[in-house]
Amino acid sequence: MLISSKNHWDAIIVGSGPNGLAAAIHLAQNGLKVLVIEAANDVGGGLRSAELTLPGFIHDPCATVHALAVNSPFLSSLPLANYGLRWVYAPYSVAHPLNDGRALTISRSIKETAAGLGRDGNAYQRLMTPLVHSANHLLSDFLGPFPLPPRHPLAAARFAPLALLPAAWMARLAFRTPPARALFAGMAAHAILPLDLPATAAFSLVLHMLAHTSGFPLAQGGSARLAGALGEHLQRLGGEIRTGWQINHMDELPPARLILLDLTPREVLRIVGDRLPAHYRQSLSRYRYGPGIFKVDWALDAPIPWKADNARRALTIHLGGTFEEIAHAERAVWNGKSPAPPFVILVQPTPFDPHRAPPGKHIAWAYAHVPHGSREDYLAAIEDQIERFAPGFQARILARHTFTASDMQAYNPNYVGGDINSGAQTLTQLFTRPVFSLNPYRTPLKGVYLCSASTPPGGGVHGMAGYHAARAALKEFAARTKK
Ligand SMILES: Cc1cc2nc3c(=O)[nH]c(=O)nc-3n(C[C@H](O)[C@H](O)[C@H](O)COP(=O)(O)OP(=O)(O)OC[C@H]3O[C@@H](n4cnc5c(N)ncnc54)[C@H](O)[C@@H]3O)c2cc1C
Repeated sequence: MLISSKNHWDAIIVGSGPNGLAAAIHLAQNGLKVLVIEAANDVGGGLRSAELTLPGFIHDPCATVHALAVNSPFLSSLPLANYGLRWVYAPYSVAHPLNDGRALTISRSIKETAAGLGRDGNAYQRLMTPLVHSANHLLSDFLGPFPLPPRHPLAAARFAPLALLPAAWMARLAFRTPPARALFAGMAAHAILPLDLPATAAFSLVLHMLAHTSGFPLAQGGSARLAGALGEHLQRLGGEIRTGWQINHMDELPPARLILLDLTPREVLRIVGDRLPAHYRQSLSRYRYGPGIFKVDWALDAPIPWKADNARRALTIHLGGTFEEIAHAERAVWNGKSPAPPFVILVQPTPFDPHRAPPGKHIAWAYAHVPHGSREDYLAAIEDQIERFAPGFQARILARHTFTASDMQAYNPNYVGGDINSGAQTLTQLFTRPVFSLNPYRTPLKGVYLCSASTPPGGGVHGMAGYHAARAALKEFAARTKK
């Protein structure tokens, strides 16, 4: 469908995160004249890279692990390799160190992963095999607005009853041994929700599925390479990008037929609230944000000295020991209390992507989930968790950079209170964010759409919120240009 318009801009996208760029690309693919406006000096939102610690050490302030990007139906359809983007994989996507000094690992092979789980190996294979076989169908339902009716009813009928369970129930129902339950809990805790809430099992199941279908990749050289490739592709399609331009009110925008906001409700209310009808304003102001994170980036003199040798070959490390410890930490932060000890997610890119540090040196980052908006310093608590499973870690630190939960919001206003998913991913806000609607991308204002992670399918680098919002906007555009 090729559409043209006499307006200078057919569409303006505010915010150049992965969803904003995906929306802009899809509109430009359909012949619209598109402008992206970004407050920061670089494009990418959660996809930037920077020398946060020392010269030559390239850190990703936000996303690094791109399982969602490589499995995204939209992003994976783009010719990003033409712009130099290369994916790099570790032998293991995940390692989960245990208190006895061993670590469980998740590789592409279900069989190999199951072999590490002893008495729970068969149960693991029985759970994962059908999921992985239905992965394509499940992802196309999961990565979008509420799938009503489901596009793949058989796969959905099999997956939904498991996915709707609290992760805590599922871990106990599926597995008999504490290590297998701990592994399942570590994956579920990416939801940043208490593990006894409904549908938290879905996060663990989807992440396990992605680890077995594609593995967890890195963008060689840093996540900014992915943002750069998306930006270049947009420009190749005729789109324009203006950085260093913070929009404080809709009136500042040049005229355009469509406006797509890669913004969270808090930011939408700030810049367009005075134009929204009261009922919609109220719905947006009721949108719930979840806990924050405290993040540390390190420049290191050498790789992390994990007690368990196999953890050295994993990209993502889950540090919480047992199911009970992880569940306790996640419940505490949800209730606004300090987790003691915190559950820590650590990413070590340089053993697999040496381009991010000077020769022989390394980087790593870790975050702990912490109460919403916290200004507290969790550096010592995080480094203690790492020392517990990698004694001697601190002796390898050359420099550190930290973000409190409130710093995270200052870095990017979409991370309200440090909530990196731009809104709690509870069952009620998973498919119907930010308001309950079959078309949650549309606002009551003619031509104005939301396209950020505060719309379905929520947080993560998949660009699918941008793609779905662009599709909805294109329908309106086509109808208006026909008249
Ligand atoms: C520490 C951290 C680690 C993460 N790790 C991963 C990971 O490994 N894998 C993964 O898949 N996801 C990860 N995420 C989540 C992921 O980064 C986000 O879900 C994703 O970036 C959301 O994309 P988006 O396009 O919706 O918004 P964003 O990426 O937040 O982009 C929004 C953009 O809008 C701009 N903006 C905001 N207000 C204005 C304004 N008024 N005017 C102009 N511009 C404005 C912002 O500057 C920003 O560039 C992580 C996030 C964080 C913070």
